[in-house]
Amino acid sequence: MTDSYDLLIVGGGINGVAIARDAAGRGLRVLLCDKGDLAGATSSASSKLVHGGLRYLEHGDFRLVRESLAEREVLLRLAPYLVRPMSFVLPQGPGSRPGWLVRAGLFLYDRLGGAGSLPGARALDLRQDPLGRPLRAPGAGFVYADCRVDDARLTVVTARDAAARGAVILTRTALVAAQREPDSWRAGLQHEKGERHEVAARVLVNAAGPWVADVLRRAGLPAHRALRLVKGSHIVVPRLYEGEHAYLLQNDDGRIVFVIPFERAFSLIGTTELPFTGDPATAAISEEEIAYLCRAVARWFAKPPGPAEVVWHYAGVRPLYEDRARSASAVTRDYVFDLDTSGAPILSIFGGKLTTHRRLAEHALTRLAPSLPEIGPAWTAGSLLPGGKDLPEGGIAALAEELARDHPALDAPTAERLARSYGSEAREMLRGAQGEDFGHGFCEAELRWLVEKEWAATAEDVLWRRTKLGLVMEQRQVERIGAYLARVRPASLAVAASAPAGQTAYR
Ligand SMILES: Cc1cc2nc3c(=O)[nH]c(=O)nc-3n(C[C@H](O)[C@H](O)[C@H](O)COP(=O)(O)OP(=O)(O)OC[C@H]3O[C@@H](n4cnc5c(N)ncnc54)[C@H](O)[C@@H]3O)c2cc1C
Repeated sequence: MTDSYDLLIVGGGINGVAIARDAAGRGLRVLLCDKGDLAGATSSASSKLVHGGLRYLEHGDFRLVRESLAEREVLLRLAPYLVRPMSFVLPQGPGSRPGWLVRAGLFLYDRLGGAGSLPGARALDLRQDPLGRPLRAPGAGFVYADCRVDDARLTVVTARDAAARGAVILTRTALVAAQREPDSWRAGLQHEKGERHEVAARVLVNAAGPWVADVLRRAGLPAHRALRLVKGSHIVVPRLYEGEHAYLLQNDDGRIVFVIPFERAFSLIGTTELPFTGDPATAAISEEEIAYLCRAVARWFAKPPGPAEVVWHYAGVRPLYEDRARSASAVTRDYVFDLDTSGAPILSIFGGKLTTHRRLAEHALTRLAPSLPEIGPAWTAGSLLPGGKDLPEGGIAALAEELARDHPALDAPTAERLARSYGSEAREMLRGAQGEDFGHGFCEAELRWLVEKEWAATAEDVLWRRTKLGLVMEQRQVERIGAYLARVRPASLAVAASAPAGQTAYR
C-alpha cells in the first residue's frame, strides 16, 4: 500500500523544514525528504546572520528589510540560544560610501526595525574607541546591531520540532520522480543505500533550493520562473581580534565583506558573489576568492590574514529569483513562490533568506490552504523552538554555569558550547552522561544525541554541521568518531534508521 500525505516537501534546508514544522503544527500529514543531510547545502553555507540586510536598502528592497527585521525579533525570542545579538562596526575611510549616506541608511534601518530589543545605530570615533584597535588606520565609523545564528543548528532544531509534531523526516532520501495525477502526486523516493519507496501526497512542495529546477524536471514540469545561481564563499582564519563584535568592511568594488567572530578561536570572513553554473553540489571556493577575501580585510585591518592562514572554507549557492538585475549583489534576496494548480498543486520556492524562513513558511501555507483540508491558524511566531524553553533567567551564561555545576567533568568552554548549541535541551542530553570521551569536550552522550535525535549519520554531519568541532579535532579523533558511528549505525541499517528514535521512517 502507498503511504499517503497532505504535503510532500522536497528539501531539508531551512525553508523545507520550516514549512514542515508549520504544516505539522496545523495538523497536516507531512513527509519531508532530503537527498543528503539536513542543512547539507545552502543552509549550512551562509554568513550565519539573522539580519535585515543593511545593504539591501541600496537596492530599494524595503519590504524584505522590514520583514527580515521583524523576523529578527521573533527569532531572538524563539531560539535565544541560537540567535544572538551582535554589534557590527562599520569603519569609514577613503573610497567608502559618504558618511551622510551611511548615517541615513542606518537611520532608516532602525526605523524599519521598529521598537525592537536591539540598540540603535550610533557614530563612533574609531581613533578613540577600543573597537578601532584592529584597524590599520582607524577614523570615523558607525556601530549598529544585528544577530548571528548557527544556520545548520537552526535547521536541525526546526526539523526536530516538525518531527515532534508528527512530520516524518527522511534524510539521505531523494525524490527521484513525481507523477501528477488529477488529485494527488505519486512520488518515487530512493534512499542512498538504494531502497525505493512510493508515496502519495495531495501537494508537492519544492523547497530544493538551488535544485528547484531539477525537482520541477523530475515532476515533468517546465520551470516558469528563472533562477540565478550565485556562489558565495567564506574563509575561516585564527581569530583576528578580541571581542564579540563583527566588522562590515566596504571593499573597493563597492561590495561589503563581513568579519565575524566564529566559535571561540576563529574569525569568519565572507562572502564572495559569483555567477554559478553546474551542479550546486560541486560548488567550491577558488584560490582567487580566497585572495579576494584576504585583500578585502587587508584594506582595513592592521594584521590581515594571508591565504596560508585559512583553516577552513566553504561555498554555497544562492538560489536567487532572476529579476534581471545587472550584478549578483543587486539581485533581490526576497523569495518568490510559483504555485501551479493546473493539476495536483506544486509550490516551488525561489530565493529567500535564512532570516525569513518562518514567514516564508506561513506565506506558503496561506497560499496552499485552498488545496488542503481545513488547516489551523498561523502559530509559529509564538512557539519556542526546542532548547528555547526553560532557559534560566541569566540566559546562556547562567545555563552554562548550571551545566558546569551539575557536571563537574565539563570544562567551562564545553559547558558554554553545549549551552549555545542545545539551549535547555543540553540538560536532557547530559542526564546520566557517561561513556567515551572523543576529545575537546565531545562526549558519547552528545554523539548519541546527534544520532538518535538529530539524524546525524556521518562524522561530517557531526563535526561540520551540528557542531563545528571539525575545526579543532585531530584526524585520529575524527576516525574514532567515524568508528563509533559505524558501530551504532551499521551499514546494514536500512532506511528506517534515518528517522530519529521514536519515529518510523516509512509508515
Ligand atoms: C554565501 C551565502 C551567504 C548567505 N548568508 C545569509 C545570511 O547571513 N543570512 C540569511 O538570512 N541568509 C543568508 N543566505 C541565504 C540562505 O542561506 C538561503 O536562503 C537558505 O539557506 C536557502 O535555504 P533552502 O532551504 O531554500 O535551500 P537549501 O538549504 O539549499 O536546501 C535545499 C535542499 O534540497 C535538497 N534537495 C535537492 N534536490 C532534492 C531531491 N531531488 N530530493 C531530495 N532532496 C533534494 C538538497 O539536498 C538541500 O538540502 C546566504 C546564502 C549564501 C549562499
